[in-house]
Amino acid sequence: MEAKARRLWSELRRWRRAGYKLVDRAERERRLQLCAVCPHYAARGNLGLGQCQLCGCTRAKLWLASARCPHPEGARWEAST
Ligand code: SF4
Repeated sequence: MEAKARRLWSELRRWRRAGYKLVDRAERERRLQLCAVCPHYAARGNLGLGQCQLCGCTRAKLWLASARCPHPEGARWEAST
């Protein structure tokens, strides 16, 4: 839990540095489709909010322009800042 809180804090700091930018609905949907076919994605995780099992984030992360997929074999989607 502590590690998850640290990752969340780090993600929020990166988002603040990027000026709190969000992606548009089309980019968010594109990211979600990539997550949906990823073996690390748990749609029912985080109390049904969706969960990347690598970083622990909910689907809300997909809105953050500064966010990046943490897949170890290469990001499935990149930051849009
Ligand atoms: S590793 Fe990337 S594509 Fe897979 S669930 Fe996490 S954020 Fe989504």
